[in-house]
Parts: sequence; structure tokens; C-alpha cells
Amino acid sequence: MPSIIVASGNGASALPAGIRILARGGSALDAVEACAKIIEADPSDTSVGRGGKPNVLGVVELDASIMDGTTHRTGAVAALAGFLHPISVARAVMDRTPHVFLVGEGASRFAREIGATRTQNLTPSTRKLWVERLRKAGETPSSVRRRAKLLPVVRKTVKEERGTVNFLAVDRHGDVASAVTTSGWAYKYPGRVGDSPIIGAGNYSDSRYGAAACTGYGELAIRSVTAKTAVDRLASGMPIDVAARAAIEDANALEDAAFNIVVLSADGAHASATNRQGRRYVWMTATMSEPATALRAWVPQARRGSRSSRATVRAGSLR
Ligand code: ASP
Repeated sequence: MPSIIVASGNGASALPAGIRILARGGSALDAVEACAKIIEADPSDTSVGRGGKPNVLGVVELDASIMDGTTHRTGAVAALAGFLHPISVARAVMDRTPHVFLVGEGASRFAREIGATRTQNLTPSTRKLWVERLRKAGETPSSVRRRAKLLPVVRKTVKEERGTVNFLAVDRHGDVASAVTTSGWAYKYPGRVGDSPIIGAGNYSDSRYGAAACTGYGELAIRSVTAKTAVDRLASGMPIDVAARAAIEDANALEDAAFNIVVLSADGAHASATNRQGRRYVWMTATMSEPATALRAWVPQARRGSRSSRATVRAGSLR
């Protein structure tokens, strides 16, 4: 079985490390975790881990999940603050607890209990961006913290500004695994959780068929159970590129918001689709010396006045 890792475009720098793990016979699960950790520790990626954009109160709340497609064991954390590697805390939820998903204070408590590395994920540059966004909303760090009602502020601070990294892998034994990690929607309401840690929505693996993971407006992936649906489509025999496009069509039928998917089949074929033109994804196999990049298939939102566009509304209006 040829080993391969597929990722969202911002995962390229991590692929060689993941492929080294697969090339020496390591598991897909170890490879996707290792890749996710590299991006989490990279402060230049402002959508993941350290350097990720904070919520409206200036706290970087991280979501992550990992799934073993052979055993269907999963682990996830959401709204985790103050730790460097949410993906490894998610892996520990999977490996060391009888649970699959810990959130907020409980997730932090567990992270402390297992000795996870602590860090301040808000960097000087993301703090500056947060203060600037607050200023445009007529707030300061101290005024927003005193607010009893945050929703009026969040209506002004959130824009189409999100990001995530995801990794899907098949190892030489044919095991499939996936990992997704993110700081979610920039300047969100505290406690907002997107699709990334929700198994079936933003992340899903089944070693019989393949894996899928989403980026973009996570609420849509939750509402359409997008990653699991994509894997079900592979299971039904749908060609992988058609399954990727179908996921975007599902999202487009709901709202006009950026949405992307990567899909990997158990035999190593891959595809990706998006509703925003020009987006890329990356992959690497054990025989390649560097990652390859390709444009995601573009599935544009239907034009105004068409049947499916009448069903769509502007995303993120937080009415
Ligand atoms: N899907 C992520 C979320 O909704 C953000 C993104 O990938 O752009 O939290």
C-alpha cells in the first residue's frame, strides 16, 4: 500500500515530517498527529495553535480532533486555552480516557493532569490584530471584558475570517487516520465550537473507504455532517472527485460562506473542492522529495436568482 498524506494548503511545511514517519513503517495516526503539531507550534499560521486568532475577549480557544479509521477510536478537545498542542491532548483523550470529547475547563484540567505543554497562544502580533479589531468595533480590551452582553460586540468583530489545518493519511498497512486542529473563527463568541473537533462534521476516517476533513465555515459542516457524508459517498462507490464536489454543493445550498473539503480514499486517491476560487491543497507520498500542490476544484455558489441561490442566506450575520 503506498503511503500518502493529504492536507489543506497551510499544512505543506509539515508533510515531509509526516512522510518520514510513514516511510519507516509508522502509523497514519502518528503521522497526522506529528504533522498537526508542527503547524500548531508555528506562530506564522494565524488560524491554528500558537499564533491563532483569539475570541472576542482575547483568549485563543483551540479545537482539535483525531480519528483512527481502523478502530474508529477518536479523541477531541474544544475551547481549550493555554496549551501548545491541542491535537496531542485530543490524542490523549482517545488513548487514555473512556471518553471521546472534552471541552473548556474540563479539557484544560485534563491537559494539566497529563502534563501537556502550556503556553500563551496569543502572540504580540495576534494581540495587536485583536486590539485593532476591537477598536473598529468601538471597544478596548478592558471595555469588552466589562461587557455584560457580548453579542452586540461579536456582531461587529466576526467577519469571514477563519482557518484550520487538516491532515489525512494512509500508511503502508492500509490504516487511514485524520487530524484537524484550529483556533476557529477569529474574534468569536467565547465557547463557540466549530466543526473541526466534531467527528463526522469536520473530520472522519474509515480505513475501509477513506477520510475527509473540512475547512471554512464550520457551522455548515456541522449542519450537513459533511466529513462522514463524504466518506459514505466513497463507500457507495461515488468517484472521489464527485464526492468532494458534492460536499461543496451541500454547503452552497445552505449559505454563502467559504467552504472547502479534502478527501482521501483508502487506496490513496485524493480530491479537494471549494466554493472560493484559487484555493489549494497539498499532498506527499513516500516517493516524493517535496509536497505537491494543486488547485481545489471550484464549485461556485449559484448565481443570484437561480433556484439554489434563493435557499441561501448571508453567513455569519449572527442574528
Ligand atoms: N472550520 C473552522 C471552524 O469553523 C474554521 C476554518 O477552517 O476556516 O472553526
